[in-house]
Amino acid sequence: MKRRFRWCAALSVLIIVTGIALTAVRQHTVKVDRPIAFDVPYAALQRALEADIASQHQAVPINWVDLLACLAANCHGDFSRYRDSDLDALVSALQAGSGLDRLTESSSDFAYYRKIYGTVLDGLVGFKEDTTHDNSTAPSSYGLKAYFPLAADVSYEHYDDFGDERTYGYVRPHLGHDLLCAAGTPVIAIEEGLIEAIGWNRYGGWRIGIRSLDGQRYYYYAHLQQDHPYHVRCRQGTLIHAGEVIGYVGRTGYSDIENVSNISVPHLHIGLELIFDEQERAAGHEIWVDLYPLITLLAQHQTEVHWNSTCHEFDSSLSFLSG
Ligand SMILES: [Zn+2]
Repeated sequence: MKRRFRWCAALSVLIIVTGIALTAVRQHTVKVDRPIAFDVPYAALQRALEADIASQHQAVPINWVDLLACLAANCHGDFSRYRDSDLDALVSALQAGSGLDRLTESSSDFAYYRKIYGTVLDGLVGFKEDTTHDNSTAPSSYGLKAYFPLAADVSYEHYDDFGDERTYGYVRPHLGHDLLCAAGTPVIAIEEGLIEAIGWNRYGGWRIGIRSLDGQRYYYYAHLQQDHPYHVRCRQGTLIHAGEVIGYVGRTGYSDIENVSNISVPHLHIGLELIFDEQERAAGHEIWVDLYPLITLLAQHQTEVHWNSTCHEFDSSLSFLSG
């Protein structure tokens, strides 16, 4: 009896301690309980990225996401009056030794924007190995690791169409970004990750969904080409590298019947879903963000492709496929 009492007492202490620990974790976790949007303009992304890259050889390295979150906290998320000079002033202050906490008007606002912007951007910049198909390896360099989602030098058109009305099936907002280009254009993976979904979807047609390795970003590439939508490597669970060819642009979708092209204009639809909570996501609470500014930024980092006559596919000219 005494022994059972000791076990019960120990178990109670464990539960209480665990409860306190979980409460502490919750208190130190940034709650994303406001509407989530990623509306940093391209100009601010570009300027912040340049400051980040330039600072890597300076005494005070600067993180572009910190800069953007600081700006957002100070303008309450309203970038409509964004000026490069505001960002430059932050950079100068940081390089002069000011801490982010002294430059940010509200630490809770900063934490909120840092969480959202970091979820979108943290994995996209860093040190990378520049390698080419002939296996020559350049010294490790620092910069964008993510790639533009179409093969280099193809002609395309786009505009900010996030939220535009779509009516197939039911009226809803467009939760992605469209790149209009020729059918058959090779589609490039923006970031590395695992293929989570592949196959037919009545809205997206032949589509492929790739989850980033940290689990927080889900890239959705849709309306891929009739008859030959995917690169032969693509299977459920396959590890895909940033810059790898995953499929081809088409106009499939808007049909319950597979392999039907009911979209009038060939284009790549790309969506980016942020995942903070798997249960929320499973319950249908999906968080899609506007990719227009980011895709505009990524246009400076494209990968060339070449025809692989052995497997009748285009392959990226990056070296990961040659190993
Ligand atoms: Zn679309």
